Amino acid sequence: MAKTTRYYAVPDPTTGAMTFWYHTAKGDRRPWPTRPQARYGPVLWSKLKREPGPHDHLVPDWLSRKASDAFVRKASDAFVRNWHEAVRKPWLATVNGAIDQDPDAAMARFAASATRCCICGRELTDPESKVNGIGPECIGGVPDRIVRAVRDQLHRILAEEAPETRQDAVQRAKRAKRKPAGASQEGAKARGENATIQCMDAVLGDWTRDVRKWWVAEMAPTTQSPVAVLLSWIEPRKGLSRSTVIHPETRYFLVTTADGDVIYDSRDDVPIDMDGYHATRQRFANRSAFRITHH
Ligand SMILES: [Zn+2]
Repeated sequence: MAKTTRYYAVPDPTTGAMTFWYHTAKGDRRPWPTRPQARYGPVLWSKLKREPGPHDHLVPDWLSRKASDAFVRKASDAFVRNWHEAVRKPWLATVNGAIDQDPDAAMARFAASATRCCICGRELTDPESKVNGIGPECIGGVPDRIVRAVRDQLHRILAEEAPETRQDAVQRAKRAKRKPAGASQEGAKARGENATIQCMDAVLGDWTRDVRKWWVAEMAPTTQSPVAVLLSWIEPRKGLSRSTVIHPETRYFLVTTADGDVIYDSRDDVPIDMDGYHATRQRFANRSAFRITHH
């Protein structure tokens, strides 16, 4: 028998909102619905013209993949790769893990949330199908074990999960501590308010930002970076947070000062080879100014 499609629903581990997925007859797992195409999970923006939600992440404004300078483009690509490894992939792994851990429950949750058949995705209309979570045209082609499991889980979900409010789901997701690293201020290892961030960048030059809030989060280790942190900040009179990844390969480090005292030095978390740093700085000191193209 050819492999059939399957439809799943699991709560977003960050926000608690329901996310929907289907796997094709070939076994690829994709977000549902497809028209318009649903998108779930963390998104990386270079620009955002609305209030950011918990999944909106912004590229630091000095990076640009369209920059005329190769170093800026390289740094931008590295940032995007790192973000995928540290933020997007762990989120997807959590969602996929939740489906794989109990696929019957994820199918039943799809039927319960969407009132659709968890095999073909079509709407369930007759009362018996709604109780089974599988429509009349599909039920004959599904093994009895799965039919029973989906029906039992569906009844459990309708009894237990239906009264759950969105707030409950958010609280549960928080308790599960499945948030991708750096996604929010919660769990920050260092934080503060009304400070100045100074970036000592050997390649692109130094910069300074006055911030009204800053926080540092651990990032999940990647193959390129066993140690990395994400420093985020919010500038005065601005709602958007900005952030930068600090990992050992970078030719920069950041310090946060308040009233002239250093309150955070990224080198305490992410050691950097200072001889190499000074050599690089020397090498780039005489280069002409960069032109950064904003898009
Ligand atoms: Zn069906």
